[in-house]
Amino acid sequence: MTEADRQALMGSARHSAPQVAIVGGGPAGLMAAEMLGRAGVCVTVYDAMPSVARKLLLAGKSGLNITHSEPHERLRTRFGAAGDFLRDALDAMTGRDVEAFAAGLGVETFTGSSGRVFPVAMKASPLLRAWLARLAGLGVTVRTRHSWKGFDGQALLFETPDGPVHVAADAVLLALGGASWPRLGSDAAWVPVLAERGVTIAPFRPANCGFDVCWSALFAERFAGAPVKSVATGIDGRVVKGEFVVTRHGIEGSLVYAGCAPLRDRLLETGQAAFIVDLAPDRTVEALSASLHRQAPKLSFSNRLRRATGLDGVKAGLLREAVPDIAGRDARALAQCIKALAIPLASPRPIAEAISSAGGIRLDAIGADYQLKVLPGVFAAGEMLDWEAPTGGYLLTACLATGAQAARGMLAFLGEKTSP
Ligand SMILES: Cc1cc2nc3c(=O)[nH]c(=O)nc-3n(C[C@H](O)[C@H](O)[C@H](O)COP(=O)(O)OP(=O)(O)OC[C@H]3O[C@@H](n4cnc5c(N)ncnc54)[C@H](O)[C@@H]3O)c2cc1C
Repeated sequence: MTEADRQALMGSARHSAPQVAIVGGGPAGLMAAEMLGRAGVCVTVYDAMPSVARKLLLAGKSGLNITHSEPHERLRTRFGAAGDFLRDALDAMTGRDVEAFAAGLGVETFTGSSGRVFPVAMKASPLLRAWLARLAGLGVTVRTRHSWKGFDGQALLFETPDGPVHVAADAVLLALGGASWPRLGSDAAWVPVLAERGVTIAPFRPANCGFDVCWSALFAERFAGAPVKSVATGIDGRVVKGEFVVTRHGIEGSLVYAGCAPLRDRLLETGQAAFIVDLAPDRTVEALSASLHRQAPKLSFSNRLRRATGLDGVKAGLLREAVPDIAGRDARALAQCIKALAIPLASPRPIAEAISSAGGIRLDAIGADYQLKVLPGVFAAGEMLDWEAPTGGYLLTACLATGAQAARGMLAFLGEKTSP
């Protein structure tokens, strides 16, 4: 949309209250709708799906980790290079604010032993129901089955079951989500539309994803679905304890997701990366080595390993799988393998399976007010922007925070345009 287009659009949308179109009814779009509705703006939320916030509802299936209880300064570090850009948004909506937001919707939360915050009900539907009712009370209109196709001159163009619909608005928020789980609505079909208008977009990559590993048929058959508990890996120079799951294709689960971004980038750039796992995080190489040394030489490898280290089942299987000659190694070499087992990765799992995505509208394509630099009057928020974060409630926190920050930007924009 050119400045002339926008002026014409403003002219065609003269109403007593400013009219705002929010495209995308996920957490980012709904939070913006709430802020704008409260400010007296006339808000319509458009979504391609038959109902809004389907990804939020799916997130509820695993308990809905809405935010993290760690100190705000630490939470801000979870967004890597994007942390600086997101700072204003996150400072204006901290983890405590997200908890207060849930409480305001009548949703009681608790903090788990990991510091993650969940609704007591461990699902999203009560929160979403209460939120949509509150939005309706603010006069926010929701139009589903409206799939945004781009701009037609001055207007937004939607495809609907009743044919094409043109919408004029004083300002627009795009909150179309990332590229994971496309069947829930966020299918990234907007990428060519915005790219054609000169918006710079970083290619989407899977985030918080599993990886393919070339398991032997025997290993996959025996251990697919097995959880690997009480293990650790190194992330950003820190030792992180947790667990992961062996799948038929490879590995997935919280510990894999936590270290996913650097592994994915190395794998995509060089074709090589390995997940390094410590199978006995509470013991040193020396202690393991001494214990292995004490075992009778006539014992089988499995028995020696189990008696000396307590490792059996899938952990013993992983050692054999990743180091085929493991049984012939001396005590110290075996202990070293246990403490830093390298599982070679073949590729990240497809983005359609990932919890979230990296990539999207580059942060230098939007201003501090979240307005697209090349499309005045059009703002963007949520996962469609180029930031990523591990699981831990950071994704929803940042989607809510950027939705709110974009709404503040839109209010300033509307204020400027309507002031004499
Ligand atoms: C399995 C799973 C579990 C998760 N669990 C958690 C968790 O516990 N904690 C956490 O913090 N995060 C979690 N997430 C991530 C979190 O749900 C997302 O980061 C968040 O929903 C993104 O919000 P958003 O508003 O940016 O986009 P979305 O929630 O993706 O919403 C975008 C909306 O835009 C609509 N849309 C897209 N294109 C168009 C178009 N062309 N026209 C009209 N409408 C369109 C879509 O239909 C959708 O409703 C999880 C994700 C998944 C997949």
